Amino acid sequence: MKIGIIGTGYVGLPTGVGLAELGNEVICIDKDEEKIRALKSGKVTIFEDGLEELFLKNIQNNKLKFTASMEEGVRDADVVIIAVGTPPHPVTKEADMKYIYAAAEELAKYVSGYTVVATKSTVPVGTGDEIENIIRKTNSKADFDVVSLPEFLREGFAVHDFFEPDRIVVGTNSQRASEVIKKLYKPFEDKTDILFVKRKSSETIKYASNAFLAMKIHYINEMADFCEKSGADVFEVAKGMGLDKRIGNRFLNPGPGYGGSCFPKDTNAMAYMGKKYGAQLSLIEATIRGNDLRKTQMALRILNVVKNIKNSKIAVWGLAFKNGTDDIRESPAMQIIDQLIKNNAKLCVYDPKAMDNARKILGNNVEYASSMFETVKDADVLAILTEWEEFGETDLAELKKLMRTTKIVDLRNMLKHKYPKKEGFDYYCIGSN
Ligand code: NAD
Repeated sequence: MKIGIIGTGYVGLPTGVGLAELGNEVICIDKDEEKIRALKSGKVTIFEDGLEELFLKNIQNNKLKFTASMEEGVRDADVVIIAVGTPPHPVTKEADMKYIYAAAEELAKYVSGYTVVATKSTVPVGTGDEIENIIRKTNSKADFDVVSLPEFLREGFAVHDFFEPDRIVVGTNSQRASEVIKKLYKPFEDKTDILFVKRKSSETIKYASNAFLAMKIHYINEMADFCEKSGADVFEVAKGMGLDKRIGNRFLNPGPGYGGSCFPKDTNAMAYMGKKYGAQLSLIEATIRGNDLRKTQMALRILNVVKNIKNSKIAVWGLAFKNGTDDIRESPAMQIIDQLIKNNAKLCVYDPKAMDNARKILGNNVEYASSMFETVKDADVLAILTEWEEFGETDLAELKKLMRTTKIVDLRNMLKHKYPKKEGFDYYCIGSN
């Protein structure tokens, strides 16, 4: 099939690469000409495990192309996938739809023949109707259907999740569009559930899923706080809870709060929609409040540990919002660092993948190290803020030699298994003493 994908970000690019690998002819469109130039020259613009290899292979096979021209990308497409950003509105925190609506208006000019327009972006309930109106108004002759195809990939695992999705959700009221999408997802029909639902249900499934996962994270974070105060151990509690199949053992790792480009914005957008439709979403609202506060509480934990040390130096491992990605959007690490800077802390930071992105935000306010060990040199405390595997494998004896004062605030519980207290560190983790 011929597929045009609008937006070559963390969703659009892996989707394009994946669909090309399945044998489709894919053109990825982006209005960011610099990005398109880089992609055309064979440079992957985001870090995702396994992406580069498939990207290069499919460019070579002529299955994957890039363009800044909407016309070129849409003209012959059977399916046009919208994967542009839906960031939070700066004031109301509802999903800001300006990129979606601009893309819909632009693509409408070039659709030819029957075309399925599918939204992979996370969009509020009713957006499909709105896109339909925009396309019809812009091009009254267009023969098309609008389908909701929410994306559930996890950053850091985008390629894996493309080929091994837990489920595929398709929101459409059109039989004709259903047939096209069935053909598109034929390679998945024997290995995953493909759920066809009303378009508005599909739009809601994405928000309801992300809000639920955010609540699960916040729940275990609150349990961790409780365990610290009561003397229980949140690891044991999470294990005991997770063995119940109704609860499940995933998303029960306590930490510095959820972040990233999805959970914060999608919980806020869902809360906004609740108000708009007059439906009480008190659990989601409490989750948002609690998670916002958590970043401040975590910064205070770090500051507290060095409060009696003059000219203290804080070493930070981890800037990305999670491991496996260079994405720092709404990263708890970046938000904690921001609060440390506001408290005049002296910081040296390191991340295996997110240094370039972080530099653009942190500028000269921190020092940058080129390795884990360089970061901790003469530091008084090591704060671990992202769960990169290598952090958990570090050599404590080497750390001890390099640090000025041997304190660790481990907000990801990466070193607990190495018993740092036994090695002479003041060690603070989450949810147990
Ligand atoms: P992103 O910001 O990384 O990428 C969006 C891209 O769209 C940018 O490259 C931008 O230049 C381009 N763009 C914007 N308007 C355009 C237009 N009119 N024409 C052509 N290109 C245009 O965003 P992302 O992280 O890929 O997220 C995209 C959507 O997918 C969002 O709605 C997000 O909520 C949703 N989503 C994201 C994830 C994730 O893990 N990042 C997961 C599931 C769903």
